[in-house]
Amino acid sequence: MLNKNFWEKNLSQFNIKEWEALCDRCGKCCLIKLEDEDTSDIYYTNVSCKLLCVKTANCNNYQKRKEIVKDCVSLNYQNVEKLKWMPKTCSYRLKHEGKELPTWHYLIAGNYDQMIKQKKCVRNRVTNEKDVDIKNIKKHIIDGENI
Ligand code: SF4
Repeated sequence: MLNKNFWEKNLSQFNIKEWEALCDRCGKCCLIKLEDEDTSDIYYTNVSCKLLCVKTANCNNYQKRKEIVKDCVSLNYQNVEKLKWMPKTCSYRLKHEGKELPTWHYLIAGNYDQMIKQKKCVRNRVTNEKDVDIKNIKKHIIDGENI
């Protein structure tokens, strides 16, 4: 059972269940990103990690994801500040920056309808890496500001 309006607390006060529940399941962090070696700029692609179900934007093996995908990152209170590549709409990033959750967030709206309607998640909008020629990944770069 989650405490009422728990998301209004400081991130450092979240318990494990609250931390997990804050995630909006947008799947944006599960997109493959490319880094420019010279500038360190990050480019998002419309290609997802092999474990992401592109129809639901959920991880197909959340419990064992780090065993299967070695560079999968577990987000926590200590590293949230360092992960500059997280999408601007990410609930953890917003909270860390002292911002409110958006009105479409399921915790505010009560369901996922608005998130899907407003295309705030990657559901049915990206391709799994198993279905693309990874050598041509640069062709899949998208505008990371508007994903
Ligand atoms: S970007 Fe943030 S809110 Fe969206 S799925 Fe990833 S961790 Fe959750």
